[in-house]
Amino acid sequence: METLQDRALSVYKFGHKQTDGSKELKNLLGGKGANLAEMSRIGIPVPPGFTITTEVCTQYNEEGKEATIGKIEPDVRKAISEIEEMMDSVFGDPENPLLISVRSGARVSMPGMMDTVLNLGLNDESVPGLIAKTGNERFVWDSYRRFIQMYSGVVLGLKPENKDDLDPFEEAIDQLKEQRDIELDTDFTVSHLKELVGTFKEIVKNRSGQPFPKDPWDQLWGAIMAVFDSWNGARAIYYRKMHGYPEDWGTAVNVQAMVFGNMGNESATGVCFTRDAGTGENAFNGEYLLNAQGEDVVAGVRTPQQITKLGSQRWAKLAQVGEEDRREKFPSLEEVMPELYHELFDYQHKLEDHYRDMQDMEFTIQEGKLWILQTRNGKRTGAAMVKIAMDLFEEGLIDEKTALKRIDPLKLDELLHPVFDPQALKEGTINHQGLPASPGAATGKIVFFADEADKFKSSILVRTETSPEDLEGMHIAKGIVTARGGMTSHAAVVARGMGKCCVSGAGALKIDYKSRTLRVGDHEYHEGDWISINGTTGNIFEGKIRTKIPELSGEFAKLMSLSDKFSGMEVRTNADTPKDAQIARNFGAVGIGLARTEHMFFEVDRIKIMREMILADTVKGRKQALKELLPMQRSDFEGIFEAMQGYPVTIRLLDPPLHEFVPHQLATQKELAEDLHISLGTIKQKVADLHEFNPMMGHRGCRLGNTYPEITEMQTQAILEAALNLKKQKGIESKPEIMIPLIGTVEEFLMQKQIIQKTAEAVFEKHGEKVSYKTGTMMEIPRAMLIADQIAQHADFFSFGTNDLTQMTFGYSRDDAGKFLPIYLEKGILKHDPFEVLDQEGVGQLIQMGIEQGRKTFAELKIGICGEHGGEPTSIDFFHRSGMNYVSCSPYRVPIARIASAQAAIAAGE
Ligand code: ADP
Ligand code: MG
Ligand code: MG
Repeated sequence: METLQDRALSVYKFGHKQTDGSKELKNLLGGKGANLAEMSRIGIPVPPGFTITTEVCTQYNEEGKEATIGKIEPDVRKAISEIEEMMDSVFGDPENPLLISVRSGARVSMPGMMDTVLNLGLNDESVPGLIAKTGNERFVWDSYRRFIQMYSGVVLGLKPENKDDLDPFEEAIDQLKEQRDIELDTDFTVSHLKELVGTFKEIVKNRSGQPFPKDPWDQLWGAIMAVFDSWNGARAIYYRKMHGYPEDWGTAVNVQAMVFGNMGNESATGVCFTRDAGTGENAFNGEYLLNAQGEDVVAGVRTPQQITKLGSQRWAKLAQVGEEDRREKFPSLEEVMPELYHELFDYQHKLEDHYRDMQDMEFTIQEGKLWILQTRNGKRTGAAMVKIAMDLFEEGLIDEKTALKRIDPLKLDELLHPVFDPQALKEGTINHQGLPASPGAATGKIVFFADEADKFKSSILVRTETSPEDLEGMHIAKGIVTARGGMTSHAAVVARGMGKCCVSGAGALKIDYKSRTLRVGDHEYHEGDWISINGTTGNIFEGKIRTKIPELSGEFAKLMSLSDKFSGMEVRTNADTPKDAQIARNFGAVGIGLARTEHMFFEVDRIKIMREMILADTVKGRKQALKELLPMQRSDFEGIFEAMQGYPVTIRLLDPPLHEFVPHQLATQKELAEDLHISLGTIKQKVADLHEFNPMMGHRGCRLGNTYPEITEMQTQAILEAALNLKKQKGIESKPEIMIPLIGTVEEFLMQKQIIQKTAEAVFEKHGEKVSYKTGTMMEIPRAMLIADQIAQHADFFSFGTNDLTQMTFGYSRDDAGKFLPIYLEKGILKHDPFEVLDQEGVGQLIQMGIEQGRKTFAELKIGICGEHGGEPTSIDFFHRSGMNYVSCSPYRVPIARIASAQAAIAAGE
């Protein structure tokens, strides 16, 4: 077996005279490590360090701690000694200690998934040495207490045991603040900090039974292994599941010389974005804190200040802070440290140009010197994703194809989500104003704990601040509110990534987790009370606010027409009503791929006639009822044809088993008996007769039309007369396509086709005029795939019904799969729900066979798909590769399918 020693490197250096890695090596170095290397390559100041590769993590998972240390120790020691040289200090030296950070970093950024330890290398012996060296006693004690706190949480696992428990270290800090009447962490004096260090060490000893590890090398190995372990932590696993990332990627570990933002008021730390991650606006923005370290900005312990003056002024307006107050108490970095600000501005510019995408960066200023600690492609909302891609394209930084590839089709969904109705907003009572952390509108019942987000159907998670543990609950909640934290807080960043509405930094909210209450001024709210939040403005409202469909931006329209330029497939919609058809057309659908006729029969006045038809004993009785249904059905089709304005409309003949239409409740049965003037007993008998053991495989689909031809006759007549009427009255040339469902033999198809033809001839003769129409079939039974060549000799089109096809290929009843599918997914027996994501391996083969066979006898055969999969991007890619002409999906999926179809064509190199 190949071992690490045989490989090139287990450790890659960066920030040295020579940098080993680059941005191309993300798989090996993780995103953070690869970008640290890339930055130092292009001349951005990065503190020196090295990355232990993801391969080592994989090895660790297989072979364990001792073996792994044994293998990498020589490389690690060598790399550390090089950092020592550059930083002019020595790891573990009491007089002149080198301090380092140990940072995780997987291939893709997983916000907060993995934990970082700062200031590693400090101990009782080196504290005095570092004080002597820096002359900054407060800084050293502050760093020491932070180190113990972080190390204990991350490496020693001393986290709160219970969800209402406070973090023991935070509790100690709060206690000390209370005792000494101190408000901010920055107000702690040296003696306070010393006291804290003592308390912290005691906590460690009490809770873990061991003293805090003194030896820096023990500290280092402990931290490295903890990063590896965190790859298999519960929240990392959840995040991977949510995004479908494989388990075997592993994480890299970055070890890096510390730079200190907590050395006084010439020092600072912050986070910034090259563009606005919420709206996409091309405006550099971010937040910072003076005299702070690491995660202080995102953790929301102090209210961070804005980096740019413009951002600061916008913030002040929202936070209702006057200009004078702002300048004095919350000035921007641009105002406080103009030179460093300009340097930072140049770097962000350089990085965005280099990566050709919006960057999310971390920086630290140590006594007037600026360091960049991280850059990555920033998470963004759906709206920002569209705007940034189109802007970068128009600025000439990326080409058309790249702009399209930047779009995550599923994220477009966010743009199509409802927003608050402006009228309802005016009437709503604004209760409080926070920061507009992630746009959108959300209404729900208050919950205070992330793991209770599913307590109500719609919930709003209200927290003082969120933490990585809350991820799952944030996903479930409709929206998120935090009392602390700014625009770059954990809640804000994660919410934007999820496209979830979020208001952060709503300072006046007083949350009491124990009693589950929320106070705002003199109002008190409880768990389960309704609130509404507007993530676009930061407003928090009492009660529910009405929503409406959003208007789409100009960039969105441009993106859509760009996608049409590359797309190889048309996108149609599944719509049963003129209203749905209209929505889909607004989203750019160029036809209906599936209009189901059965839904129309469920309306109150029709269901009765429908039942009459079903319960009739004779053909004559059935025909009588169908005659009554005809005008209703015809006007439905007129509405749909009109909405589609000459685009093709595929109408499926009646499909569901008849028993779905008859009443099963006694009261309704009685009513029906009275209406039809027959006895209740007869009704009951009829209903019992219609009972099927397995209706999904029973008397349905073309089996209905072949046993009751008069149904097909009526529907055909309704379709063609609707088209004739529309032509006569409004001059619209409709393009009806009659689709026969559930074909398994060619005879089934031929029999239906004959009925359709005969009816058409009669209709055309009666009206003295013709319309052109097509007759095709829904391909959804495995047998049909095998004889597709025969069917194609007679059919004008195929439309794959992938829902039924999946059901029958797997032998999973869609109606019963809820009992075992979730377990199958959890156990990994299935990767995806096959009803959501097309099973390319199995069902896909049948589809390809159907297409191949069909085109063998009819090369021009028009082929599409109308199952749920028609709106799912990975399935769309498959349909493109299989040579389909169109996909059809629900109206709100149309934009998603248009982009996915263009991406499929680009990926196929067309
Ligand atoms: P995350 O992936 O959660 O962002 P990071 O590894 O980026 O974790 O680190 C957490 C925080 O610590 C960040 O604010 C980062 O800038 C800061 N940090 C990490 N390493 C150093 C270092 N060597 N010097 C100063 N700050 C650091
Ligand atoms: Mg973190
Ligand atoms: Mg980071």
